[in-house]
Amino acid sequence: MIHLPHDDNTCGWYNALPKQPKQALLTGAQKADYVVLGAGFAGLAMARRLAEHAPNARIALIDAQRIGEGASGRNSGFVIDLPHKFSLEHPDPAHKQRLLSLNRFAIDQLASLVAKYNIDCQWSAAGKYQGAVGARGEAYLDHFEHLMTDLGEPFEHVTGTDLAKVLGTNYYSRAIYTPGGYLVQPAALACGLGANLPKNIEVFEHSPIVRLEKEQGGWLLQGEHGSIKTPQLLLGTSIFTREFGFLKNRLLPVMTFASWTRPLNDKEMQQYTGLLDWGLTPADHAGTTLRMTADRRIIIRNTYQHVAKYGNSISDKLRQEIQNDHRKVFLARYPQLVDVPFTHSWGGTYAISRNFTNFFGQLDDGVFASACDNGVGVAWGTVSGTLLADYVMGATSQSLDDIQQVTGMPSLNPPEPLLGLGVKSRIKLAKWQSRSEI
Ligand SMILES: Cc1cc2nc3c(=O)[nH]c(=O)nc-3n(C[C@H](O)[C@H](O)[C@H](O)COP(=O)(O)OP(=O)(O)OC[C@H]3O[C@@H](n4cnc5c(N)ncnc54)[C@H](O)[C@@H]3O)c2cc1C
Repeated sequence: MIHLPHDDNTCGWYNALPKQPKQALLTGAQKADYVVLGAGFAGLAMARRLAEHAPNARIALIDAQRIGEGASGRNSGFVIDLPHKFSLEHPDPAHKQRLLSLNRFAIDQLASLVAKYNIDCQWSAAGKYQGAVGARGEAYLDHFEHLMTDLGEPFEHVTGTDLAKVLGTNYYSRAIYTPGGYLVQPAALACGLGANLPKNIEVFEHSPIVRLEKEQGGWLLQGEHGSIKTPQLLLGTSIFTREFGFLKNRLLPVMTFASWTRPLNDKEMQQYTGLLDWGLTPADHAGTTLRMTADRRIIIRNTYQHVAKYGNSISDKLRQEIQNDHRKVFLARYPQLVDVPFTHSWGGTYAISRNFTNFFGQLDDGVFASACDNGVGVAWGTVSGTLLADYVMGATSQSLDDIQQVTGMPSLNPPEPLLGLGVKSRIKLAKWQSRSEI
């Protein structure tokens, strides 16, 4: 039995969008030259690039939900150029340079699509602050500074006083600012990309695929109201790839959570005292991500949960506890905004692997995937989706060589319940160790 995505309708980004146009459902018995399953940033990029290579082919892009309702529309909207977390620690400098140039490939591609189609998604060259609250965070910042120096990338020190002028809070002791990252309203970007696809792509939303069968001449994808057969299947299904029997026991489903306020009014903006349109990630990874959007909303993101059954693993009680924690974190930073309520709190599921390795390539005859983004899928989904389509079409490029060099096989997980217990205790330990930085 295939477990389907279980994202609820609580996501602030998606709810802030104008009503989306009616979608098409997958019905009847259909055929396509290519099927792309999953319409997050990876699947959107796969479909677009396939269509550029094969403008006369029939390409179907299918998602269980509306475009923008999955993790691609639920994230914090950092489009990050730098190698992330563990990749930044990689011993081979060439590996990190390849990641950097792949992420920049994605940023350039997204920037030109946003400009070309005039996508209204708060796309902004805002860079990124990495902030420390106390000694533990500052030690991480010192280490980050060495890594950036080794990488040859620009960065600036920001004192606590200068940071407070930007953030409107003196909660942080200092930060490092890196200029290469972008900020975006992720659901608006995903929907904007989905609304401006080449004409030979047919999009089917609210069309979960519940069975995948290998048949003579291709693959049959069985939906709830119809089916589609294809010789070439590209999976942009992230963590859900394992539901089709691929990369089984190699991907870990993790959920993280965000809450945001309504837009601050003029009086509250005066109390806030900071600037608009910035983003801060925590120096200590288990800490809190903080954003002020261009339209005056403050966002808090933290907390990780291992979710074997995706959104179904989270009870209402746990959701409420997480929201209460977010409120405490918000008020610790902005006690002057005590009267500003949260309007939305939501979570989203993504894939990590124990060796922090992304999968890119062929899984079976006619089946290809980019899966396991390790939590930075806006840029990674875009570049890996684009290059996967190049790979399927037999194109060659330096970027394709690069992505094949930096990807590999996610390592095997121990069986359940050992896996769940292990991940849960690691998350708990990290939370406890980082309590001063949350
Ligand atoms: C709260 C939060 C904050 C985050 N912050 C950031 C950030 O700031 N920057 C960043 O880069 N990343 C961030 N991430 C991670 C990022 O959202 C993911 O890495 C990214 O969405 C992965 O994109 P994707 O296209 O590979 O997969 P997804 O966006 O997960 O898309 C997969 C799609 O497959 C569909 N699907 C699955 N199963 C089926 C099926 N059976 N039938 C049909 N369709 C199916 C799903 O509905 C889904 O739309 C964050 C994630 C969360 C949850």
